[in-house]
Amino acid sequence: MSFSEQIVPSSTSAEQLPLWKQEGAEPFLRIENITKNFGEFKAVDNISLDIYKKELFCLLGGSGSGKSTLLRMLAGFETPTSGRILIDGVDMAGIQPWERPVNMMFQSYALFPHLSVADNVAFGLKREGVAKAEIKKRVEEMLGMVQLGHLGKRKPHQLSGGQRQRVALARALIKRPKLLLLDEPLGALDKKLREETQFELINIQEELGVTFVVVTHDQEEAMTLATRIGVMNQGIIVQTDEPHDVYEYPNSKFVADFIGSVNMFEGKVIQDEPDSVQIDSKEAGTTLFVNHGISCAPDQIVNVAIRPEKIRITKKEPEEGVNCIQGIIEEIAYMGSLSVFRVRLASGKEVRVTQPNFTRSMGDRFTWNDAVFLHWDEDSSVVLTS
Ligand code: ADP
Ligand code: MG
Repeated sequence: MSFSEQIVPSSTSAEQLPLWKQEGAEPFLRIENITKNFGEFKAVDNISLDIYKKELFCLLGGSGSGKSTLLRMLAGFETPTSGRILIDGVDMAGIQPWERPVNMMFQSYALFPHLSVADNVAFGLKREGVAKAEIKKRVEEMLGMVQLGHLGKRKPHQLSGGQRQRVALARALIKRPKLLLLDEPLGALDKKLREETQFELINIQEELGVTFVVVTHDQEEAMTLATRIGVMNQGIIVQTDEPHDVYEYPNSKFVADFIGSVNMFEGKVIQDEPDSVQIDSKEAGTTLFVNHGISCAPDQIVNVAIRPEKIRITKKEPEEGVNCIQGIIEEIAYMGSLSVFRVRLASGKEVRVTQPNFTRSMGDRFTWNDAVFLHWDEDSSVVLTS
């Protein structure tokens, strides 16, 4: 049993669980041992993954990790070297892109510059020979949904980046695909617009009940959008979980480091009970206590991972409790809603701590070169064995 499953209350009935937690639920998209080689190079390396109806699944990974290649195989633009892809139970081998119940929205939206917004959206339906009146109705519906109803007559160059992105989304959705694949859909937008558009994307996806697979290299975006995240590294999915679990219970140093920021203390396991571990860490300068079990060899070298926001920083020594270390503040950055501290330990290790700024004056409590205590609860950290 994984950690995340343990925190689901036992009274929760199967119906209330999301599909991916229901035993025996049929996936909408099944990826079975998919590999893609380019010559000697394995771009996608034996990936198996089930995605369920109405999910907004994010493939998250650094550049070159194989995200686009996997997406292109789902769309049918790339043929797997080995493995199978099933959509709604149907094997996609030999099925052409346009015959699949799938649409793909590319990173470069590739709108037709000479066509109006409405005609761009209508394009796919026209090519299919759908009746004029029907096209008109569906285009209006779709433009309304992406909040562009008033801009149907404009040309793409008369739109902002965010508006163009929404035209592309409308164009991809108008043919009512069962599965929409989006490759870095918000990549061209600046941060603020990106955040607004993320919520729109979620609303539209929920309204239409379409299954989305979204590729992104932006971990905050994945955390905001996803029902589940698949973290990719070098052609492999290294962890698949709900955003909260990927963040709170990363399964490896790679994931802990890739998602958000984290402090890691290397150490040796000195006590390993079913529900608690003690780690002797020279880097931390003390024994660290974590209240979940691990399975590892005695004396194994592991890392204790603790998020910066889970560390308390005080000038006074806390009266009781474990996981308390001492250091000197080397740097303070005031970031508006929070303050970031860099604290140097006697071991030389640097620890990052963030504190929310509740009041205006709070930032004044600490200053450079202050000697401080850093402490955290036993359930705030996780042990990483790989
Ligand atoms: P991502 O989308 O995660 O950035 P890609 O799936 O585009 O990564 O690429 C994964 C790796 O496969 C990269 O190293 C890339 O150079 C390589 N690759 C992708 N497409 C081809 C191709 N057609 N021929 C050779 N190598 C490719
Ligand atoms: Mg890519």
